Amino acid sequence: MFNNLKQKFMHFMQGRNGVDQLSQFLNVVVLVLLVVSIFTKSVILDWLPFVVMGYMYFRIFSRNIPKRSIENQKFCNLRYDLAIKKNNWKKEWEQRKIYRFFRCPMCHQKVRVPKGRGKICITCPKCRQEFVRRS
Ligand SMILES: [Zn+2]
Repeated sequence: MFNNLKQKFMHFMQGRNGVDQLSQFLNVVVLVLLVVSIFTKSVILDWLPFVVMGYMYFRIFSRNIPKRSIENQKFCNLRYDLAIKKNNWKKEWEQRKIYRFFRCPMCHQKVRVPKGRGKICITCPKCRQEFVRRS
């Protein structure tokens, strides 16, 4: 009986996108929104979890796998970028007593200089632009 159901489900899921990283993330979003909606009296927040849930199931059961795959890839890239940014912020925060961080006015490259040296001329390591900052 159980095996039969499982087989039917597997047959149903054939050629469909299934659960990917974006769907897993949406699942978490739904749960968070549901908890938030308990504590608020907003009509939008009452419906939003179900809208997101609908989108999540639409993606899971979608037969347009190439398109869903591109969406998932974009999501993974974004998550990766955010993880790197978070890591950089963490590093800057840990080094905040020894270094100061500036952005090059030309190419926006981030540069790190030792703190407490007064006004210094900084040469961008990427584009060689010079700019003066108080360290
Ligand atoms: Zn530069």
